[in-house]
Amino acid sequence: MAKSTDNKKNIIIVGGSYAGVSTAHYLLKHVLPLLDDTHQVLLISSSTQVFSRPACPRAMISDAYFDQAKLFVDLASQFRQYPAASFRFVHAAVTAVTAPSASRTVSFRLLSGDQKGSAESITYHSIVLATGSAAASPLHGLPAGGDVVSLKAAWSAFRAALPAARRIVIAGGGPSGVETAGELGEHLNGRVSSSWIPFVERENKKPKVEIILVTGGERILPFLREDVAARAERYLAALGVRVVKCARVVGVSPPGAGEENDTRVAERASVTLDSGDVLEADLYIPCTGTRANTGYIAERGWLAGDGRVETDPRTLRVERAGAGVYAIGDVSSFARPAIHNITEAVPVLGSVMKRDLLGTGEEREFREDMRKSQFVPVGRSKGVGLAMGWKVPSFIVWLVKGRDYWLWTTPALWSGKQWAKE
Ligand SMILES: Cc1cc2nc3c(=O)[nH]c(=O)nc-3n(C[C@H](O)[C@H](O)[C@H](O)COP(=O)(O)OP(=O)(O)OC[C@H]3O[C@@H](n4cnc5c(N)ncnc54)[C@H](O)[C@@H]3O)c2cc1C
Repeated sequence: MAKSTDNKKNIIIVGGSYAGVSTAHYLLKHVLPLLDDTHQVLLISSSTQVFSRPACPRAMISDAYFDQAKLFVDLASQFRQYPAASFRFVHAAVTAVTAPSASRTVSFRLLSGDQKGSAESITYHSIVLATGSAAASPLHGLPAGGDVVSLKAAWSAFRAALPAARRIVIAGGGPSGVETAGELGEHLNGRVSSSWIPFVERENKKPKVEIILVTGGERILPFLREDVAARAERYLAALGVRVVKCARVVGVSPPGAGEENDTRVAERASVTLDSGDVLEADLYIPCTGTRANTGYIAERGWLAGDGRVETDPRTLRVERAGAGVYAIGDVSSFARPAIHNITEAVPVLGSVMKRDLLGTGEEREFREDMRKSQFVPVGRSKGVGLAMGWKVPSFIVWLVKGRDYWLWTTPALWSGKQWAKE
C-alpha cells in the first residue's frame, strides 16, 4: 500500500475504466520515464476489473453472448509491464479530495486485502479525476464507487426473472434504451423474417413478450437524423418492440423498482406516465441517462451546472480546483460522454501534464469533433448510425459495433498498446 511517507511524488488517477486506465498507460509510457524516478502513478479504483461498458445491453441478458474473459479483464495485470516502482494499483473507493491550496490529499476506503474497510489518505502532486458516471439502471454499469461484483449481482437477478416476464417497460429513447429494447426483443421474440422486398422490415405483431419503449420525445434517437431514427423504429417493430412517444415516466411503484441494485432490479413495477396511464411491468429498465460520480468532491464549486467536473475543454485542467488537478471521461465537462472523445483526449491530457510536470514540451489542445457520429445496433444483426454526419448502412453498424459491441477495440486499450506512440 502506498503511504503518504513514500518519498516519491504521487500522480494519482481516480477511476479505472476507459479514461483512467488509458491516462495511466499514457503517462507511464511517455511522461514517467522523463521524470527520473521522482514520481509514481497510483491508480485508485473501486473495481479490480475493467469491462466493456457499451456491451451491457446484450451482456446483461446472458453470459453466452460474450467471451467473459474478454468482457471482464483484471486491471492490475495490465500494468505489470512497467517498473514496479513507477506504478501501484489501489483497490479502494475514494471518499474525499482536497484542493491543492489546502492539504492536497485523497482519502479512500480500502475494498480488499488485510486492511479491508480501513480509511487512508495520501498526498498528491497531480490528480486526474476519472470516476465516470453511474447509469439510471444498475444493469448498465458499476454503481458509484462499486465493483463488477455489484453489476454481476444485478445481471443475475435480472436473468432469473427474465423467463417469466410477459411485459417489459424500458424508459428512454436514446441509444441505450433502443439497444436494450432491441437486444431483449431479439433474445425473447426473435426477428420476424424480412419480407422478400429488400430493406423492408415486417412488424412482429404477436411477440411472446411485450416490450414497450417509452420516450419523452416525438421520436427515438434524437441525436440522429429523422429518417435514421425512423429506420431504427422499424427494426424494433420487427423484434416485437412497441415505441410509445411523447410520454414521460413520472412515477414508479414501488419506488426504486428497476433502479436499485441486486434483487430490486428485477422487481415488478407500476410505471406511471405523464398522461396518467399506468403500465404494469414485470421488468422495468430506466435508460434515462447517467449521473457523474462526484460524491467524493466536497468542493461543489468544482462542478458545472450539470453535475460534472467543470473542466477546461482544451486542456482538461480543472481550473477551479487549482494547479495539478485534471478531469477526463464521463465525470468531466470537457465533451459529450463517449469513448471516442476519451481516446482523442488522452494524448492531449498527457501533453498538458507533461508540460506541467517538466516545464517543457508542446501542449496540445483538445477540440471535440462536432460532426455527428453514433452507431446504434438494433438486435444482433441490424443497426442504424451516422459517422461524421454521414448515414451508415445497417451492415456497417453491425460490423463495427453490433457484432460484439466494440469488444474488438478493448484489448489495445486495457493493455495500453493503443498508446505505444506519443
Ligand atoms: C449502456 C451504455 C452504452 C454505451 N455505449 C457506448 C458506445 O457505444 N460508444 C461510446 O462511445 N460510449 C458508450 N457509452 C458511454 C461509455 O460507456 C462511457 O463514455 C465510458 O464508460 C466512460 O468511461 P470513464 O472511464 O469516464 O468512466 P466509467 O466507465 O463510468 O468508469 C468509472 C470508473 O471509476 C470507478 N469509480 C467510480 N467512483 C469511484 C470512487 N469514488 N473511487 C474509486 N473509483 C471510482 C469505477 O469503479 C469505474 O471503474 C455507453 C454507456 C452506457 C451506460
